[in-house]
Amino acid sequence: MEGQKINQYLRQLPPVHQLQNDDRFKTILKDYQLTSDQLTKFIQQEVSGLRKNVRSERLTSFSCQDVEEVIFENAKKKVVEWKEDRLKQVINGTGTILHTNLGRSRLSEQAVDHVANIARNYSNLEYQVAEGERGSRHNIIEDLLKEATGAEAAMVVNNNAAAVFLILSALAKDQEVIVSRGQLVEIGGSFRISSIMEESGAHLVEVGTTNKTHLFDYENAVRENTAMIMKVHTSNFKTIGFTETVTTDALVKIKNKQENFIFYEDLGSGSLYDFKKHGIGDEPIVKEVIESGVDIVSFSGDKLLGGPQAGVIVGKKGIINQLKKHQLARVLRVDKMTLAALEQTLKIYLSDKDALSNLPTIRDVTRSLEGIKQQAEDFISDIYSKTSSYRIKLQEGISQIGGGTMPGVELPTYVATIMHESFPAQELAAKLRACTPVIVTRIHDNRVCVDFRTIDTKEMSSLVKGFLEMEQY
Ligand SMILES: *Cc1c(COP(=O)(O)O)cnc(C)c1O
Repeated sequence: MEGQKINQYLRQLPPVHQLQNDDRFKTILKDYQLTSDQLTKFIQQEVSGLRKNVRSERLTSFSCQDVEEVIFENAKKKVVEWKEDRLKQVINGTGTILHTNLGRSRLSEQAVDHVANIARNYSNLEYQVAEGERGSRHNIIEDLLKEATGAEAAMVVNNNAAAVFLILSALAKDQEVIVSRGQLVEIGGSFRISSIMEESGAHLVEVGTTNKTHLFDYENAVRENTAMIMKVHTSNFKTIGFTETVTTDALVKIKNKQENFIFYEDLGSGSLYDFKKHGIGDEPIVKEVIESGVDIVSFSGDKLLGGPQAGVIVGKKGIINQLKKHQLARVLRVDKMTLAALEQTLKIYLSDKDALSNLPTIRDVTRSLEGIKQQAEDFISDIYSKTSSYRIKLQEGISQIGGGTMPGVELPTYVATIMHESFPAQELAAKLRACTPVIVTRIHDNRVCVDFRTIDTKEMSSLVKGFLEMEQY
């Protein structure tokens, strides 16, 4: 195409101000509740895209009528995309309860309601109502944390990684911290105990070997400059075979002999609920750990606790006070919404409200196999009554707890394994991910698998609707 022709086409592209005065512009504005600036930006992008295509001769003929229609249609698609939520609701069909990629714990209704109310209004976040004076957010739910764990004092920071960092920085900077080689864990890729220790300025003293650490290893390592013995819960892996670790009780004994250092246990998950009662795992409950005499303990808010993302630190009053006063406590502090969610989560454990039915995390871990099976059967008969495009089998399976928690624990479950008459498993799974709400499944043996352990009865109609949407393709 010669230059003259290109210029002629370029001249035919409508000027943006003309498009702004078009009725179609006004209709989109009204239909999608946009500002004129936002829509103009999308229109400009379309026009400059067309201009590029003309110049590169990818677009060689058009009529003015067409081109305007194309611009408006494409701008509308961009608007729809822009309007979509970035943070989307997901139906978790993987059966993994604390799925790290899917936001870990779901909050209880009580927590959600309290968060909404506190977020919508002013609150006493840093205000003592009776005195009419300035207060501290660190004290807002301290009493509940003390009651739930039996500790003398407590505070909350952004997450457990932040708790570990604060504790090491505030209590062990330029001093030595003794950790068993078997506990130098990496959690979720970017969080390594050894690296966080380095960042904090504490010096790591490794004792024992990967598979065995003895009491005498710790005893021999304690010196003048020892600030702390740190025990790390090996959350996401299990060593089996010829192994030995030193119990919390034994470490408390060493510590009680010398008194001049701190014994800190990073519990990782930190359960307040006794899953052992149900024969699930061997996770210690926080109260037991505190009772055994550990100075401070930290754990996550959104793992087995079933609350918001947070790092909970509980233990001796003098130590917690030191942490509260540290500069980093300000850096790592939590928002009022986190405190609101944590407050209600703790109250469920503390009141006679039933943790099993009110906390989604606890409920999902302890769900009955029959209940899951029934839900899967309901799904299958619902789908079969509405379409004949699927072949579905009900099979026994295994759910994981996830979140690097109770790695060896396998929870028996029921899964629906699903085949569509036209789409291979990968394609079906991708189409399910494009639904609203997003449906995330697993693929096994070329079949899409849905584990009902992590699916609420309230989500069932959306799940079925998602599967029926395939009919439109
Ligand atoms: C999960 C975990 C952490 C990190 O907790 P976050 O709340 O995810 O920051 C730290 N230590 C251990 C042992 C863990 O299992």
